[in-house]
Order: sequence, then structure tokens, then C-alpha cells
Amino acid sequence: MTTKIQKLVIVGGGTAGWLSAGIIAAEHSATATDNTAPDGFQLTLIESPDISTIGVGEGTWPSMRSTLQKMGVSETDFFRECSASFKQGTLFTGWTKGSNDTYTHPFTTPHGYAETNLAPHWQPLRNQVKFAEAVSPQSALFPAKLAPKQITTPEYAFNVNYGYHLDAGKFAEFLRKHCVEKLGVKHIKANVIGINSAANGDIASINTDSHGTIDGDLFIDCSGSRAILLGEHFGVGSCNKNSVLFNNTALAAQVPYNDEQDPIESCTLSTAQTAGWVWDIGLPTRRGIGHVYSSAHNSEEQAGQELLNYIGKTVGEKAAANTTMRKVQFSPGYRDEFWHKNCVAVGMSAGFIEPLEASALVLVELCAAMIAEQLPANREVMDLVAKRFNQKFLYRWERIIDFLKLHYILTQRTDTEYWRDNCRAESIPDSLQESLSLWRHQSPWHRDTRHVDEMFPSASFQYILYGMDFETQPNQTQRRSEMEAQKVAGTLFQENAMRTQKLCTSMPSNRDLINKIYRYGLQKI
Ligand SMILES: Cc1cc2nc3c(=O)[nH]c(=O)nc-3n(C[C@H](O)[C@H](O)[C@H](O)COP(=O)(O)OP(=O)(O)OC[C@H]3O[C@@H](n4cnc5c(N)ncnc54)[C@H](O)[C@@H]3O)c2cc1C
Repeated sequence: MTTKIQKLVIVGGGTAGWLSAGIIAAEHSATATDNTAPDGFQLTLIESPDISTIGVGEGTWPSMRSTLQKMGVSETDFFRECSASFKQGTLFTGWTKGSNDTYTHPFTTPHGYAETNLAPHWQPLRNQVKFAEAVSPQSALFPAKLAPKQITTPEYAFNVNYGYHLDAGKFAEFLRKHCVEKLGVKHIKANVIGINSAANGDIASINTDSHGTIDGDLFIDCSGSRAILLGEHFGVGSCNKNSVLFNNTALAAQVPYNDEQDPIESCTLSTAQTAGWVWDIGLPTRRGIGHVYSSAHNSEEQAGQELLNYIGKTVGEKAAANTTMRKVQFSPGYRDEFWHKNCVAVGMSAGFIEPLEASALVLVELCAAMIAEQLPANREVMDLVAKRFNQKFLYRWERIIDFLKLHYILTQRTDTEYWRDNCRAESIPDSLQESLSLWRHQSPWHRDTRHVDEMFPSASFQYILYGMDFETQPNQTQRRSEMEAQKVAGTLFQENAMRTQKLCTSMPSNRDLINKIYRYGLQKI
């Protein structure tokens, strides 16, 4: 007798819980009734009325567009109800030299990227034009705070690629409404107070304080960093990556604009500090500004002062004087196993590493998409699916760590112990050291990546490397078709320059476009 997987139970109603519910329910047509038809599928989300969500997490990757679209969300409603704005990448300040040096990581891949790697052709031009500007039009939109599309561009379509900045609290509520009203997800507000095991060690059911016992075939642990199912019940431990990525504390603030119609940034601003960095995210209604730092290298008092100095300088002294901060501590790392028996962790329960490059929500999207797509047909094959899931996400976490650490090891800063410690060889993973050795002689490109669905494409590595002055020596053996390649590259650089000019003169400002979305809405596809 095989046991079909028909009842899914998600514990946790933060962004991870509701995104997982939406992604899985959209794929499997959940029913909210208790009478499961023979082939029916039931998805229940249990959320504590007493334990609040983490309430931060305001930057997404472009993947969020297709995630929302697949869930059947109207992008217009999303903008209106989640205080969302456009995120086109990140502007890094002070990371390379500790002064006003800047570089960008735009979301649009270099022009002609599918066929041509422009990086080697840019090397001789490196003193004339920044890499990101030579290969992509997107960074040129940042200074004037321009949008990635126009009001006539349909929902989810774009002129240049974009993700979102959003209000995390409003987003969870928006997803809840959509999941419950449109996707048949059953929502229970109760505290999980106990777990009952089956004979094979699986979770058979969970006890709640106000809704009795709830049984299930597969349990998704979205209970935040406590991980009450995978961590507390099953005792699955976590590896700590603090020796690689030192940041473990954040001070978060919400700062109003001086005028409610002030311009909205096109990208996340990431400004390096003495022992960490400040994020600055522009929503239509306010800015989300915070300082993430290493408590081994900086005191809370000093970190708070650096945050206030930043707010004073960029928003105003009055705003700085009125700022209240919330402290969030975390141990950078991830679970030794993500899927154990009939329980899989998604979100903070699976792990968390500092918010640089906003990798957390995209990982939630990927986890939930794999659960939805590979949902085990029955209990018998679940262990095989779990094994693959664990392998895949272990690889992803390791790759995220390499990518984030890359931002630190290319620094030329030696002004504080934090920046010096970041460049010590013992803090750099072997995999990243190997890649760097290779990149000294050949630029990252498609061939470097092992999976088709990489989280960070090789283009992202290029933007960080060349944004931070890394040099790849020309490869003397690749001369055969060089003339032809140079001609193609020259054309691509020219086309990019023309496209940049065109976009800079035709795109509306973020504020104007968002005002129009509120008023008229975007066209449905
Ligand atoms: C400072 C900081 C900045 C960040 N910035 C970004 C960013 O820019 N981009 C990004 O992608 N990510 C970011 N993140 C990560 C992001 O915030 C999280 O990945 C995301 O919010 C998902 O959290 P979660 O749903 O896993 O956990 P939580 O929000 O903590 O939700 C946990 C849920 O579990 C429920 N729960 C707990 N215990 C019980 C119980 N016993 N019974 C019932 N329910 C229970 C709670 O009520 C809650 O609903 C950031 C994180 C931090 C700390």
C-alpha cells in the first residue's frame, strides 16, 4: 500500500510561509475543505497569533515577478497594497576603497550575453568606462531614479529587468489574502504546542492550543529561526558560517521621506561602514534603512551611531533625531539537512546569512518551487526527493556564501580590522579561492556554472569582480577568431551606448510611474 501525499501543513505565516503556500497551491489546486477527494490536495497554514514575523526582508530578486505571476497575482494590486517599488539592482559605495568609490550590480545581464562574453573586450577600456555602464544600460537609470518600464508596458513586462522593494508586513498580509481567497489555502491562527510522531519517526500530526490536532503527510517548517519542527523536534543542527561572513547583527529603522513625493531610488543602496554596511531601500511611503555589522568588530553603540550619521547625511538631522532602531541578531549559517523524513524547512528555519544581495526570499521561491514541482507522489519516494533537495540546496547555500564573500575579499580597504580580517586567506572558502585563481586568467561566463537554474548567474560575478577593480589577464591562446570577436564586441558596446541614451530620455521616474500605477493600473498581459 502506498501512502499518497495529499495533506500539506505549513507552520509559520511569515513571508516564507505565505510564499510557499502560494507557490505550491498555485501548482496543485488546493481545496480548503476537510473532505479530501480521492485525488484531492489540501494545504493548511498554521500561524501563531502571538509570535510576530521577523518583519524585515524588503528587497527581492527579479525572480519574484514570475513567482507572483504564476500565483495569479495582479501586479497592479501588488504595487498598491504592498507599498512596492522597483528594484533594478544595487549601488555599492565605499566597498572598494572606503571613500566615495561606487560600483553597481544591475539586474540586466550584459548586452549580447547569450552569445558573447564582453568582459575580455572591456579590459582594455577599463580606465575609460565602468564595466556595468559599458555592457548594460541599467546603471545609467540609477542617478536620475528612473523606472524600468512605462505605464503602457504590461504587468510583469519590462524595458530593463527588475525585482521589487516592498513592505514585508504588508506583503505577508497580501499573500495571505490571495492564498486564502483565490488558491484554496486553509488558514489557522493557533500556536503549535506539541508534535506527535508516527511509528516510522515521521511527524504524524501537530497539536495546537486552539484548533486541536492537525495531521498531515508533509510538513513545511516556516516557523522562523527557531525551526520548531526541523530544529527543535528533529534536532537537525546548523553549521555556523561566522568565520567566513562576519556580520551577525542588524539595526533596522523605518525613516519617513522629508516630503511624501520625494524621489524613490531605483536600486538598493549599500554603503560600507567600519565593520559592516548600511542598506537603504526606497519604498513609496518611507525608506527602510539599517546597519548590518559584525558584533566581534563593532559595538552596538558605535554601529547605531554610524547608522544615525548615515540617516543624518542622506535624509536629514531631524530624521536622524527621530529614528528608533530595532536590533536583530542572527547566526549566519544553514541547516545540516533541509528535508528530513516528512518535514522540510523553508525560510529562516532553513538558515540565514546577512541580507547582502537579498538572497533569502529568492531561496524561499526556489525551495517552494522545487517542493511544488517534485512533490513526492507517495511516502515511499519522499526520501529520494528529500535527498535530491538536500544536495541541491546545500550547493545553493555554498554558492551564496562564495558570492557574498566575493564582495569582501576584493576590497582594498585596510582601515579597520573588519576589512583586514575579511581578506585573510583562512576566512575564504577553498571553492572561492579556486574560482578567483581561474578568473585571473579567464572571465566568468556560462561555462563556469554547473546548473541551468543557478541563483547568481555568472554575469553577477562579473559585475562584482570588475566593479571592484579585479583584473583578468588576457588569455594569449584565444587569438584565432579575435578579430571577428572584437568586431562583434565593438558593435555590442555601441548598441549598448545607444540603448542607454534612449532609455535615459524615455523612462519616467519611479515616483511618477508608481503614482500612475495607483491611478490607472498597469495593463494586464
Ligand atoms: C536584518 C534583515 C534584513 C533582511 N533583508 C532581506 C532582504 O532584503 N531580502 C530578502 O530576501 N531577505 C531579507 N531578509 C530575510 C527575510 O526577512 C526572511 O527570509 C523572510 O522574512 C522570511 O522569514 P520567515 O517567514 O522564514 O520567518 P518569520 O518572519 O520569523 O516567520 C515565522 C512565522 O512562524 C510563526 N511561528 C513561530 N513559532 C510558531 C508556533 N509555535 N506556532 C505557530 N506558528 C509559529 C510565527 O508566528 C511567524 O508567522 C532579511 C533578514 C534580516 C534579519
